[in-house]
Amino acid sequence: KPIVLSGIQPSGNLTLGNYVGAIHQWLPMQQHSDCYFMMVDLHAITVRQDPTLLRQRTYDGLAMYMACGLDPQQSTIFVQSHVPEHAQLAWVLNCYTQMGELSRMTQFKDKSVKHANNINVGLYDYPVLQAADILIYQANQVPVGEDQKQHLELTRDIATRFNNLYGEVFTVPDPFIPQVGAKVMSLQDPNKKMSKSDDNPKAFILLNDTPKQIEKKIKSAVTDSDEQARIYFDPSEKAGVSNLLTLLSVATGTSIAQLVPYYEDKMYGHLKKDVADAVVAMLEPVQNRYQDLRRDEQAMRQVMAKGAEKAREHTVITLAKVYDVLGFVPAS
Ligand code: ATP
Ligand code: MG
Repeated sequence: KPIVLSGIQPSGNLTLGNYVGAIHQWLPMQQHSDCYFMMVDLHAITVRQDPTLLRQRTYDGLAMYMACGLDPQQSTIFVQSHVPEHAQLAWVLNCYTQMGELSRMTQFKDKSVKHANNINVGLYDYPVLQAADILIYQANQVPVGEDQKQHLELTRDIATRFNNLYGEVFTVPDPFIPQVGAKVMSLQDPNKKMSKSDDNPKAFILLNDTPKQIEKKIKSAVTDSDEQARIYFDPSEKAGVSNLLTLLSVATGTSIAQLVPYYEDKMYGHLKKDVADAVVAMLEPVQNRYQDLRRDEQAMRQVMAKGAEKAREHTVITLAKVYDVLGFVPAS
């Protein structure tokens, strides 16, 4: 069985970008893979978080995972900080990662601009912790959005470098990036990706936004001032319109090629209404389940406790192997 690992930060509530780029790809993998899905709280503190909100969002995220269809019977669902080996392996991998490699990471550069008053070492080191998350499970596949591709390449480089020095310690993972929706764009700036931590809530759709909020946000989505207002798919020339077509494609399960001819003589307003309807319909069953799941924190605590226990069965083995090849003396 292939091993699959992925995670989302509780740095905000989950967006349509997180769903389309990540969770949506995870769902079918549960049947034939050994899956690990986590809320990465250690990653979230690389930018300042309010403790009360962070705690709430960790529960929100877990409830949303399950509402989307992640099944704790099939998959291992847990919170990153409950499995201490992630941080322990990250320390080791720090010593096998070059400053220059991390300096090239575009997420670090982007977040350093946004958080110019707090360019902390953790923000810089984020990709190494991510490498540890993946390598500690000997994961084969890592289903993520396009924005994580560069980090995945670094993970592969670190794993290969370590293996060359010490033998086949780590599985070198493959990124798994969706064909459609790998980069859902901000509704307010279609040249920038949709992010849950965007300061402008009109830029993203939350998975638990009400139908009214979803309609409003899509209606006010930035398209372009193309005089003819033609609808066709071209992410560089028509970023906003192409983003809407992508969302419609994912929400209806219809290919973009099939959708485009239908909109040939239609207006942007028409497309927006269809996108809003389709997104609302797609999210309705998720939202219904979410309310019930979120209410029962006791049940969620059981899920995460069991998940962390299952996860640790694997992480302690990899960490022991790593410590051994490095020459650390065993504790007992
Ligand atoms: P933040 O703004 O705090 O970084 P985020 O929305 O970027 O939040 P992450 O927790 O960093 O979310 O990423 C979780 C997963 O969602 C990753 O696999 C990432 O690639 C994916 N993802 C995030 N944004 C998008 C997007 N706009 N389109 C497709 N996938 C996305
Ligand atoms: Mg992100």
